[in-house]
Order: sequence, then structure tokens, then C-alpha cells
Amino acid sequence: MAMAKTAGEAVARIAYLSTHVVLSIQPALAIDSHFSKHLHTYSATRLPGVVAEKAPEVVALRHNVDPLLSAFQPLRSGKLVAVTTSSSVLLPSVPHLYKLAQYPIVIHVSLHASPTPDYSDITAIRQSGFVFLQSETLQEAQDLALTAHALAIKSGKGVMHFFDPANSRDDSPIEPEDPELVRDVLGLNTTRALLPLPENCTSIYVDDGRRATMAEETTSASESSQSDRLTTKGLPSGNVIEKPSSGGGSSVGSSVRESSADSRPTVSSATSIENPSTRPVTSDDVYELLETIWSKINRATGRSYRTFEYTGPENAESALFIFGSTGLFVDELGAAKSSDEFAKCGLITARLYRPWNGLHLAESLPASVRRIAVLEQIRRKTTKWGPILLDVLTSLRTKPSAGGSIMVVGHQLGYIEPATVHQALRGIFQNLSLATPYQNLEVGSRDGPLHPPDHYGLTQPKVESAYMKILDQVFGERLYLANRLGAANAGISATIAASPEYGFGSLLARKDHRSRFIGDVKTAAASHDFATDVPRSWLSKWALSAEDDTVVNTIAPDVIARLSNDGSKLASTLLESKSLFFKESQWLLGSDAWAYDLGNSGVHHVLASGANVNMLIIDSQPWSERAAADATRRKKDIGLYAMNFGNAYVASVAVYSSYTQVLEAMIEADKFKGPSVVLAYLPYNKEDDSPLTVLQETKKAVDLGYWPLYRWNPENEEKGEPNFSLDSERIKQELEEFLKRDNHLTQLMNRHPKFAANLSESYGTEVRALQKRKAKDAYDAMLESLYGAPMTILFASDNGNAESLAKRLGNRGKARGLKTMVTAMDDYPLEDLPTEENVIFITSTAGQGEFPQNGRAFWDAVKDTTELDLSQTKYAVFALGDSHYWPRKEDKHYYNKPGKDLDVRVAFLGGQKLADVGLGDDQDPDSYQTGYGEWEPKLWQALGVDKVEGLPEEPPPITNEDIKIQSNFLRGTIAEGLDDTSTGAISASDSQLTKFHGTYMQDDRDLRDDRKAQGLEPAYAFMIRCRLNGGVASPSQWLQMDSISSSYGNETMKLTTRQTFQFHGVVKSKLKSAMRGINKALMTTIAACGDVNRNIMVSPLPTKSAFHRDVHHISAKISDHLLPSTTAYHEIWLKDNDSDEKQTKVAGDAVVDNEPLYGPTYLPRKFKITIAVPPHNDTDVYAHDIGLIAIKDADGKRLEGFNVLVGGGMGVTHNNKKTYPRTGSMLGYFPASRIHIVCEKIMLVQRDHGDRKNRKHARLKYTIDGMGVNVFRSKVEELLEARFEEAKPFEFKSNIDTFGWQKDEFGMNHFLMFIENGRVENTAEFPMKTGLREIAKVHKGDFRLTPNQHLCLSGVPDDDLDMIKGMLKKYKLDNLHFSGLRLSSSACVAFPTCGLAMAESERYLPELITKLEGCLEENGLRQDSIVMRMTGCPNGCARPWLAEVAFVGKAYGAYNMYLGGGYHGQRLNKLYRSSIMEEEILDIMKPLLKRYALERQEGERFGDFVIRIGMIKPTKEGKSFHEDVAEEESDAE
Ligand code: SF4
Repeated sequence: MAMAKTAGEAVARIAYLSTHVVLSIQPALAIDSHFSKHLHTYSATRLPGVVAEKAPEVVALRHNVDPLLSAFQPLRSGKLVAVTTSSSVLLPSVPHLYKLAQYPIVIHVSLHASPTPDYSDITAIRQSGFVFLQSETLQEAQDLALTAHALAIKSGKGVMHFFDPANSRDDSPIEPEDPELVRDVLGLNTTRALLPLPENCTSIYVDDGRRATMAEETTSASESSQSDRLTTKGLPSGNVIEKPSSGGGSSVGSSVRESSADSRPTVSSATSIENPSTRPVTSDDVYELLETIWSKINRATGRSYRTFEYTGPENAESALFIFGSTGLFVDELGAAKSSDEFAKCGLITARLYRPWNGLHLAESLPASVRRIAVLEQIRRKTTKWGPILLDVLTSLRTKPSAGGSIMVVGHQLGYIEPATVHQALRGIFQNLSLATPYQNLEVGSRDGPLHPPDHYGLTQPKVESAYMKILDQVFGERLYLANRLGAANAGISATIAASPEYGFGSLLARKDHRSRFIGDVKTAAASHDFATDVPRSWLSKWALSAEDDTVVNTIAPDVIARLSNDGSKLASTLLESKSLFFKESQWLLGSDAWAYDLGNSGVHHVLASGANVNMLIIDSQPWSERAAADATRRKKDIGLYAMNFGNAYVASVAVYSSYTQVLEAMIEADKFKGPSVVLAYLPYNKEDDSPLTVLQETKKAVDLGYWPLYRWNPENEEKGEPNFSLDSERIKQELEEFLKRDNHLTQLMNRHPKFAANLSESYGTEVRALQKRKAKDAYDAMLESLYGAPMTILFASDNGNAESLAKRLGNRGKARGLKTMVTAMDDYPLEDLPTEENVIFITSTAGQGEFPQNGRAFWDAVKDTTELDLSQTKYAVFALGDSHYWPRKEDKHYYNKPGKDLDVRVAFLGGQKLADVGLGDDQDPDSYQTGYGEWEPKLWQALGVDKVEGLPEEPPPITNEDIKIQSNFLRGTIAEGLDDTSTGAISASDSQLTKFHGTYMQDDRDLRDDRKAQGLEPAYAFMIRCRLNGGVASPSQWLQMDSISSSYGNETMKLTTRQTFQFHGVVKSKLKSAMRGINKALMTTIAACGDVNRNIMVSPLPTKSAFHRDVHHISAKISDHLLPSTTAYHEIWLKDNDSDEKQTKVAGDAVVDNEPLYGPTYLPRKFKITIAVPPHNDTDVYAHDIGLIAIKDADGKRLEGFNVLVGGGMGVTHNNKKTYPRTGSMLGYFPASRIHIVCEKIMLVQRDHGDRKNRKHARLKYTIDGMGVNVFRSKVEELLEARFEEAKPFEFKSNIDTFGWQKDEFGMNHFLMFIENGRVENTAEFPMKTGLREIAKVHKGDFRLTPNQHLCLSGVPDDDLDMIKGMLKKYKLDNLHFSGLRLSSSACVAFPTCGLAMAESERYLPELITKLEGCLEENGLRQDSIVMRMTGCPNGCARPWLAEVAFVGKAYGAYNMYLGGGYHGQRLNKLYRSSIMEEEILDIMKPLLKRYALERQEGERFGDFVIRIGMIKPTKEGKSFHEDVAEEESDAE
């Protein structure tokens, strides 16, 4: 163990070793205290404690959340608790200290230097019942920390150990205390197991009567038994001692003052539950125990301690008693010359401050001392005589010194510079030598040096600024934040001025002031003291509406203008307060600290006042932390409290869940005439958490009902509207109870029947155990009636594979005559396991090699039990996992860990193996089926049923082709599934079919685990993709899309890499409405997904408008030509349930569907067509099934025809070399007039020759590589009855977007703006969605979505240019000041909605780029375009294989890195590194960018550069994508 360098470190280590729980109180969770860094390091390395024997729990708490409240629960459950804190929390915690003093808790206090420590923090709480120990040097800090813990254990009392860290700043590092010595001093070798308190001892709000006590019977005075002598009621750890013991404490009377450690001489009879043979611990007990502890330390280390420490000459005539920072004085006195006034002076300090032992003080002084200067470093002095002075005076009153009685002179110690300490000492001794010295002389300066950084002060955590920005946006200049940090105030400290109580008071004063002003205005309106009559009428008008903000804020400028013109004295007087002519929106800002007792009164005051004040209370506690939190902390639900109060507007909002709802709530709160409480959720673990973490925590809390979104407006009742509106799906139990009581729930359920199931199923009400028992018993009864050996199959399944395998095994077992039962592990009563004959376990692998959710409880019980005797049970285990899931070699052992662990554990418990553990690997050719195929026969053999004949044939698995055939032209049972309100999902086969209708079922991956833990189905929601030919939308279509995303989706829109709108988070009940909304905008979603031709892409920037128009015209023709013909779409989505069917049957009366192009099985896979207009390859023409390159006529003005590419495609499966990306092959040139027929024929060849057996091999690219380009071309030509011509020349310059303004040949303007990764949303910093909505209201041209996910505002006439530019500027949409890398980047959606995502993409790429931008800047590459793309999986939605540098998700946080793509999308890249994480990505990219900057040739692109310098080989065609890679994807386990 390294040497300890600071007192904080030494103390933290002792605290860690000596307790079960350490509460680390910090200025903020992201800012360390003197102790916390060390505590967290020990904790992270799982260093075992001496007391806890394993790593003790370290709990970080912010200083302003009533932190000592967290001590009660562990103390009461029999744990030893240490607290490390600054002294700033002590005074606010006084209500707890009196109770905590009766528990074995140690509070280590580092005195808070602001600017110098104020010891009044200690003296103010000296009567709290704690024992107080003080240390000065580094060594003392360590020894007294240990002393404090030993004393707490032995006495059962609270001990406070305090020190000024500055005192030991220059001390040399010390050896850490030997853990054996710690064990010995703590007395753990002789103490008994710790006992929890009786269960009824739970209240922390009333005195529970607890007193630290000791055994009355004492027999032996031996030292060792003394240490074991004391006992504490019902208590803790080591303080309940085995041997009855001895020691009859010495008389309290030996101290002149009664012990403050035991302020109650007798035990409270009313509340006591004490054993009559015990008595309260007295001060003498404390002294004796200290003696014992210190003599142990002395024997082991040679260092000795006494209750008062005297240093100095034995014949000293005077002494300094310092209660403050001693460092400088010790040095100065030690270096004193014999000529100095203070050469013969001693120094006394108190090691034990409370209980004060006057006798010891007197004894510690040399008899020669006549005068003592008492120096008290106390700034907040409330009495004339300092508390230490009084202590010393009373102690020495009776002690005569050698020459008579001792004179005690008090001094106030302020801040002393090292340079002035000599002078200060001289001053003290000159005073002391006077016949009548001055009392209370001040030494040093009162204020000290300029303030050092004060971490315990208040700062606005960065993450919280989101709400402040919204307030600013909504109310602008009207906003008045009464307790805004840093606001000017009348000389009050910043901390007080920022407190809600101060803010409330100042708001009331402000309101009064304005009321008086309104009175003055009314009087003025009636007076004749103005120069003209004009102001009078304006003032009357103003006074009439003085409280109506919309009216007064409009007329206030006019009133002010009239008064200014008037020039009279009365007008000037009124103008002195001109800001009062406006009506402010007045807010108080608070934190969740208000939800604890000590802050709650502020809220109560506001509510009770009934004043029209708005409170914004930010709650930052993450749900997951709360789930594990101490229930006794009793955080109050301010929302419920306020609703119960009855007079307040209440809203519960979360900016990371619904931005719109935050806006609504703030506006409603402002309008409400009375107190308003807006509870704003912003969960973070540390103040510097990334927005992604905050977003994920928010979603969990809202989804599970911990943080429901709602608004409660008592004024609504008068309007006949409901008071309560629920803005999220679930509510928590407490809220439900409140609503039930107020009968609002019933009303709400009646009004919104779709919520009924959710509302009544509030979280936290399950009867799982009973269900388990019932199900098992019923099954047993059924099995009894069958023959054959029993086989119980228990599964733990994450994504359904293990479950379906278990069920299939069950069916196969049944067919072999076995009595089988299949159930999830967690649904099985564990106590029955020993009675089973044959048990088969099937488990998949979750997280870091953990059990899936529905097997976790089972495994936890099996793992920890020693009671199960499985000697009569035969078993086998099959495990499912992915040997490539863990990118780092050291994590490979997680592969199939649950199955392997279970196999070992069951064997350990006596189980007999039927077969070796079977390992299913997703990487095998048939995935886990490969391993399973080998394992299952072994099982049948072991069970003796392998030779059974006449087994029924199992039906083959249903394929996508079957689903299509049986769907009746894409109908399936979609319509029925939509009507089923018992689930948010639709059936598996329907979910394949809805893709053809443009919607996918997904579930929120951020919430998956937590919902499972709650026993809920996944958070299903649908993604809807529009079909938008060429990515062109009119302004009215834009507005409609905007409104759909807000009303039905998650308030955001995604502009996709295929130029269309995508909405996420649409729940089933809103799906139909959303689809109708899209159709209402004359758009559709049909064939936006599915095995059909998709949306057709076209280059978006119409710089040559006539040419572009021709191309668009052709694209629409192709799109219409290839549309599926089924009427199912209209039937399912657009038909009114209760209307006459004939109205909506677009294809005539009878539904006789026919798909002339596609046939009933449609295409083998999706089919994509794109058109590029050179020189822009911004549609990535090489990456699609058909890529059309537009060729101009001889005049260069109009479209003539197309070069046709075929067989491009991006989708790949990791580690499967049979899959690869491919760039399109050139078929040749074809005139424009029949190009739609060319596309049709290409599609038909694919329809008939594509692989329908293996979807991973079904795209056109494989068909072409299978038959060769020439054969493919001839087949197309055969159908076409025409030939392709030689391809015409063309040139591409890039595949990125051309940002900024462009003018076309007709003089129209087009602006291409940057929308990072296509996400259109509002944030507090950037209200992009609002801006685009406002522009759509006035824009006359089009919105063009780009394939790089940006947006072109197209067709702006010169007349509108200034207006549009102004709006772009206002909403920051004109900002193009991004690095070239960012402007050329693109990411797919991935988490949380994409079900295939293995890693983050859209939410992570911007962060990664930010981390690279410094390096770009340093190397002069800021403006350079480098195409960087990222996807969450190898499906390749953002076309990563064509980027110069790409990252493709492999596992959460890990990516494969690819290099060497062509700058204009013409060449595929190649694998450079596999499974690397951020650190490695940065380690590779930073030097590489530098090298590129230094070594590139003129105009050389990054992708070409990495090939030239030999970092990567070029990929010449798709088939060679996996050859010559820089690093093979590792296969090794
Ligand atoms: S590339 Fe993969 S992770 Fe990204 S959106 Fe497409 S399927 Fe999802």
C-alpha cells in the first residue's frame, strides 16, 4: 500500500477499513472532497475492509441533499457507518446529530476553508452528544481516525473526528496503518457478530429513545476486558461484546463540568427498551476507553496521545491554548530564539474536545504556568466570551499554579500569513504580559486572503441549464428568477441569495412593491400634475389591466413613451420605476434537496402563502439510483404534496422525454393565479454526465411510471374540464392512490379507455410467488395422469431463442414418451428442485455474461445456497451465446458464462450429469442450432429414449416466403392485431407484413432490461417510413409531418439516408391515425419497407433546374410503375371501421388482388433504385440495386438518358464472409423514355433468380455475382427486347452535400442546411424543429431531403430571400460553421429504436467527432472534407462501406474500423481494426490525421492517402472485400 500523502487520504483509508458503509459527502458528484477520490479508488479496486471483510459500500452524496439522513438505515440494520465530510454540512444537520450521537457512527470532518476554517462549526454542535476528537498532523489524523472508530465500536456512541487539512499540508508522507493493527485496535478479534435493531425502530423523525449503554455488571479491570466491556442496546457491530465486563467508571465528578457526551444522566423510561443491567455511557467510560485504545496504539507504534497535548518547556510560565489551525504557531514556537518573548512558552491543544475533561487539562500543564492565552478561531461568535475560553476558565479555576492562580486571556484568532506569525505571537505575549491584559483581542485578519475556489458554494450544474434556457426562451425579458445564481442583491452571501427562502421573500417584496406602484399609478391617473392630459388616459388604461400580462406588456412601452414626452415631475417619478409597468413571469428555482425534510419547508411556505409564484424544482435523482435507495430517506413527493394542498398548479415534466410538454407546463404555470410547482426531471449521476446518459435515465423513469408526466390545474374544474391530464403512459402507485381518492382516476379511465389497463396496473404490485406455486401444482397434477419419465425443462431467455428451444425440446420429449414440463427458471419454485428426476436447463447469455432477466433470481438463489441436495437429480445444460460478442480478449470468458456456471454449480450441489454442457454459438453456420444439433441426441441417449421409432414429423419452420404467400396480398391479421388492446405488439408474422406497409415494430432498447425486471412486455412502438419520391416535400407536407411527429411520435423526425421522413416511437394505438395523417398530406408509406421496390432517390440540389425537373419526372414515373398493386394498404389503414366498405375499395367492389409485377411472393429481398446527377454522387449511386446516372443531351440542358448500374448493396453480416458490400456494375446506357421499363425488367430478373432460401444471400448483388454481369445483362435485354448502349462519359466529384446558397438557371435560390444525422428536434439550445415549422408557414418552394440526411430549402425567390435568411438566422439554421469532417459525416439511427443495433450510432458519432475536432484544428484540417460514417450494425443503412473512414457497430461501445473508401463513393473500404473502442479509435485517428496533414499530396483525398501509404489495401470489388484486410476478425474464444 502506497504512503499516505494527505490527511484526507489517511483518514479515508481508516474509515474504509473500519466500517461497513462510508457516506462520502461531496460538493457535487463530479467534484471530489478531500476524502472521496481515495474512497472511490479503494472501492473500484474492491479492496476488502477489515470490518466488512469484503469491500464496504461507499455511497457518494451531494452536500445539499440532507446527507446525514442516509446514515440511519444502515446503522439500524446493524452496520457500522463512517461519514467523510466538510464542516459545511454540520450545522444544517443538527436535527440528526442528536440522534446519531447514540449510534456507533464516526464522522470525519475536514474543516472547510472559506477562506480559513471556522471552528465555530464545531463549537456550535459541541452539546450534540458526540465525542469530539481533534487531530493536527498527518500522522495524528491517521491515528485519531482509528481511535475514533475503535471508540465508536466500543462505546456505541457517535464520534466526530475533525481536523484542518491545511495543518498537515507540508507533512512528509506516512506509512499506512497495518490492517492487523487496525483489527486489533478496533477489538474485532473479541467482539461478536453485529445485531440489527428491532424492526419497529424505524422512525427518524421522532426521538426513538435510543441511548448508547454499557453493562452495569463489571468484574475485571484488565485492559483487554475493558475494551470489551461496553454494550449498546440492540446494536451494532463490534460494540456488543462477548464477555460481561468490568471497570466501574471513575466518578464523573472528577471533571468539573459534566460530560456533554452524556447529557442525559438517566434513561428515558417512556421509550426505553433497555435491559435493566445496562446504563448509559458516561464521560468516564469514554476517557477509559480512550486510554485503552491509545495504549494499544502506543505499544504497537510508540506514538502516544493524551486528552490534552502539551508541548514546550517543562518550566514554561505561559502557554497558548489553541483551538484553531496550529500549524504556523507550532513551527514558529519550535524555531523560537531564547531572546523571543515567547521562548519559554508551551502550547496546548485538545485531542479530546468533548467530553471535556478539565482535570486532564489541569494535569497536563506544567506547574510553572501562570498565564494562558486562549486562541479561538471562531468567526461566528454569538457570546461575549468564546466557548473555549469558558471551558478553560472553568477547568483551571480551581487549579493554583506554582505562583498563584492561573490567568486566562481570550483571543480571537483570524487569518495569519506565515510572514506575520512572528509578529502575531509577539502581540499575544505582549498582551499576556500586561498587568491587566485585554480580553478578546483580535489576532490576524478577520477576512483572510482572497477566496480560494469554494467547491461547496453553489454552481448551476451544466446539465441543468436546459430548463433555464427554456424559461429564457418562453418568457424572454419577462422572466424574473428570484434566486438566480450570481444575481445582484443587497450584500447577502451568494449562497443565501440563491436559496429558495430568500428568493421567495424577495419575490413577495417585489410583488408588494408593484402593488404599491399600481396604487401610485391609479392616483396619478386621477391627478392633474402632468404637463398634458395624454399620460392620464394611458395610465388609466394600464391600471385597469395591470395584472394581465398580455395586455400590460403590450401597452407598457406606449405608457413609458407618453410619460417620457410629458416631462413633468410626476412623470419622472413614475419613470423611476418603469420596469414595474411590465408584468413579469416570476420564478423560483429549487432542487430535489427541497424534497427532503430540511428543504421542504420552503415549498410549504410558498404553497401556504397562496402567492402567485412559480417554482421550478429540478429533480436530478436517477431512477436506477432511486430503485436501490434507502427507503427511510423518505424523499417527499412534492407534486403530491402540492396537489393535496389544493391551491396550486402542478406539473411533472421531463425535457428529455417531452420538450413540448415542458413548454406547455411553463406557460400554464405562468398563467395560473396562485402558486405553481413545475417538477422538472433531469436525472444524472454526475454533473458532467453526457446528454445520452441523462436521456436514457429519463426514459426509464418515465416509462416505468417513476416519473410520470402530468399536469394538474385546479382552475380547470371551473371550466368544466378535467383537473388532471396525464402526458405519459404510466403512473406510480402513490399518484394513482391520490387520484383514486379524488375520484379523478375513474373519470380519466372513462375518458381514455385505452389508458385503463396501464393506469390500473401501477408499478410494484405483483404476487409472483403465489402464481409460481399455483402454476407448478396444476402442472404436476396434469403430469400425474401421464406415463413415462419426467423431464423438467427450465429456461432463461432474453430474445426468445432459449424459450423456443426449450419448448421444442419439451415437445420432442413428449413425442418420446417423457412427461415434460417447460417453464422459465424464475417461475419455478426452487425448493422443488431436489425432488426432480431429470432437469434440463437452457439459458441464453445477457449483458456481461449474466443470466437473462427471467433466470436471474433463480441463479442468485442457486449460487448462494448450500441447502439444496441435488444428489437424486440428473441434469443437463444447454447454453446459447455469441463467441464474438465481447470485443476484448479478456472478456471472452463471458461467452456462454451463465450456462457454464450453472453446469458447475449444479454438479457441486450433487446433480448427476446427463450430458456435458452444450454450447450454442451465434457465429456457427446455423447459429446456435449447430451446437444444439450435436447436444440433443446425447440427451436422448442418456435418458434411454434415443431409439424411439415412429416419431411424428415436425413442421418445418415458417419462412418469410411462407408468410408472404399466406398473407393474402399483405393482409395477414394486421387489422385484428391493431384492435387488440391487451398488448402493444402485433404478431410476429404480421410484423413481417407491416414492413410492406411502411412500418416496423420496434421496442425501446434503452428500456428493455428495466421493463423486463418489472415483468412488463417491451416498450413496443412503431417506426413509420414515408415513401417520398426524390425526397421532395411541399411546405404543407412538411407542416403535416411536423404535426404527426408531435401528435403521434416521439416529437422528432428523422430525415433518412434514403431521402424520406421516418417517425419513431409511435405506439400501436396511434399507428392508424399517424398513417392517415400521412395520407392526408397526399403522401404514403406503402412499399417504404418490405421486399419491394422502395423510395426512389434523386440528387437533391437543383442547380440546373430544367435538367433536374426532367430527372424528377422520370423518377416519379419509375416509382409509380413499380408500386405494388395490393389494396390491403387502403383497407387496413384508410378504411373507416364503421363506414361502408365500398367507399374505400379503390379497386372496385370485390377484393380480388393481383400483383402483375411482383406476384404473391413479391421479391426475395428489398430493392432500391437511385438516380445521381453528375457531378454530384450525393445519392451514392454505386450502393443500390439499380443506380442511374443522368446523362444530358448534346446542349447540356435537358435529360437524354441514363447509364445503368446494377447490383450495388450494403448489407453484411459480421464474420460471415459469404456476405459483402458491393458497388454496382455497369450495364450500359439507355434512353430516358423507357428507363422505367428497364428498371422493371431488372427487377423481374431478380424476382425470378434471386435466392429465396437464404435472406442473407437474397439481394440482387449476389444474384449478379452468381450468374455474372454479362449473363445478367443478356437476361434483362431479352425481356426488354432491346440492348444497352455503351456507357456515356460522366464525372463525379464527391458524394457529400454542397452546403450553403446556390442560384439556379432561373434565378431561384436554394439553401442546403446542415441537420446533424437528419434528426429534426427541438432542444433547449437549438429549437430547430420550431424554426423549420415557422419557415414552412411562409416558404413558397420545396423542402428537399438529402441522402446525407440534410435539408435543402429549395426555390426561394429573390423577393423572399431576406425574410428567409432572417428566419434561418433567428433559428440558427444557417449555421454551417462546422468542421469539414462533421459536414461530411453520416450515421444511422441505431439505439434506441433499431432492433438490429449492436452499438450506438446517431447518438454517438457527434461526440466522437467532437473528440477529433481539436486534432483537426491543430493540424489545419478543419475545413477539409473527410467522409466518415457510422452504423450500429453491418446492415449498412448509412452506407458505411463507401466512406473514407467508417465505424460499424460490433457490440455496445465497440466498432470495426474501415479505411480506404473512395471520396466520391466509387470504391469500397476495407477492415482496418476489429472491435475497437473509443480510446483505440482516437489513438489511431489522431496520429493518422496528423500524418495526412503532413504527408498528403496535392488534392489527395484521405481514402486515397491511406491506401498510398500502405495502411490498407484497396477493395477492387465486393467479392474481394474480405481479402487482404489489415486485421482478421478474431474467431478465438
Ligand atoms: S445500420 Fe443497423 S443499426 Fe443502423 S439503422 Fe440500419 S439496421 Fe439499424
